[in-house]
Amino acid sequence: VQFVHESLSQRVRFGTGGATAGTRAEVERLGAARVMLIAGPADSHLADLVTSGLPVVLRHEEVVMHVPLEVAERARAAAVTRGVDVVVSVGGGSTTGLAKAVAMTTRLPIVAVPTTYAGSEATAVWGLTDANRKTTGVDPVVLPRAVVYDASLLRSLPVELSVASGLNALAHCVDSLWAPQADPINAVFALEGARALNKGLPLVAKDPSGLPGIELALYGAHLAARAFASAGSGLHHKICHVLGGRFDLPHAQTHATVLPYVLGLNAPNAPESATRLAEAFGAETALGGLQQLRRKLRAPLALRDLGLQESDIPAAVEDVLAIAPTSNPTPVTRQNLTALLHAAWVGEEPR
Ligand code: NAD
Repeated sequence: VQFVHESLSQRVRFGTGGATAGTRAEVERLGAARVMLIAGPADSHLADLVTSGLPVVLRHEEVVMHVPLEVAERARAAAVTRGVDVVVSVGGGSTTGLAKAVAMTTRLPIVAVPTTYAGSEATAVWGLTDANRKTTGVDPVVLPRAVVYDASLLRSLPVELSVASGLNALAHCVDSLWAPQADPINAVFALEGARALNKGLPLVAKDPSGLPGIELALYGAHLAARAFASAGSGLHHKICHVLGGRFDLPHAQTHATVLPYVLGLNAPNAPESATRLAEAFGAETALGGLQQLRRKLRAPLALRDLGLQESDIPAAVEDVLAIAPTSNPTPVTRQNLTALLHAAWVGEEPR
C-alpha cells in the first residue's frame, strides 16, 4: 500500500447550544476585534443569536447560491472598506461559500458556523460563478480557521432540506471511496461518516427538531467533508457540478438524486469499497443500503422533477465526459454516462 495523505489544519468545536460562546471564544483566539458577519436574511435570527456580544462592524446579507462573481466582489469591497479582521459566517454552503470568496482575495480568517450538512466549512474548496459558468478551485487560504458546530441551529431546517443536505453529505462519503486522491485514511472518515448519517438522518426525518438525530448527522457530515476535502471530486461530484453549474439544478437535491446511479455504476468494479460501505449501512449491499435509507427519507427521485429537460442530457454528457476522472473504477463512456443520466432523469430503480 502506498499513499500520500494531507490533513487540513482547523479547530473544530462541537457542542449543542454552544454556538454563541464558542464563536466568541474562536474570534478572541484569533485576536480579532472587527467582525464581518455573513448571513442571508432567512438565517438572520440564527446569526443574531450566534453573534450576540461580538464586535460586528459589518453585516453582509447578500448571499446567493454558487457565489456569483459580482456578489463576491461586493462582499470583498465591503470587507476592505470597513477594515474587518475576521469573517464569521452563519448559514449553509452558500453562506460559507461567500465567506471563502472574501478570504480568497483578502486572506481574512473565517470562523464558520454551519446550519446545514453541506460540509463546505471543512474543505479548502472554493466555488464562483461567472456568466453561468461555475469554477471551483482549492486554496488553503479559504479553509475556515475554526468551525463551530451546534446542532440546535439546525432544528429549523425544513425536513426536505435536511434530507437533501444530509444526502449531499453522504455523497461526499461515497464519492471519496474512488475519487482521484482516495486513500485508506479518507476511507476511515468516509465510512464512519456514512455510518453516522445512515443512523442520524432517519431520526431527523422522523423528528426534524430532535437533537440526537441532528447531532449524529452533523458529526457524520463533518467526517464526510473531511474525506471529500482530501480525496477530491469523484465522478459523482463532476456530474453534479455540471448539472448545477450549467443547468442551474438545486445543489443538495441533485446530489441526493444522482448518488445511487453512480454507486450502481461503480460498485461492481470497486468491490472492497462496496463491501465496507454495505457494512456501514448495515445492509447486504451498498446500493441496497443506500436505497433503503433513501426510501426512509423520502428522498428526491428524478432529475426531471428538479428542472432538467430530457433534451439537456446529451450536452450534460459531453460536459461530464470532459472532466470525468480517468481513475473512476468503471471507465466512463458516452454510452454508460448517457444511460446513467437518463435513468436518473426518469428516476428508475438504479442497478
Ligand atoms: P444553502 O446554503 O443554499 O441553503 C439552502 C437554504 O436553506 C437557504 O434558503 C437557507 O436560507 C436555508 N437554511 C440554511 N440553514 C437553515 C436553518 N438552519 N434553518 C432554516 N433554513 C436554513 O444550501 P447548502 O446545500 O447548504 O449549500 C449549497 C452550496 O454549498 C452550493 O453552492 C454548493 O456548491 C456549496 N458547497 C460547497 C462545498 C465545498 O466544499 N466548497 C461543499 C458542499 C457544498
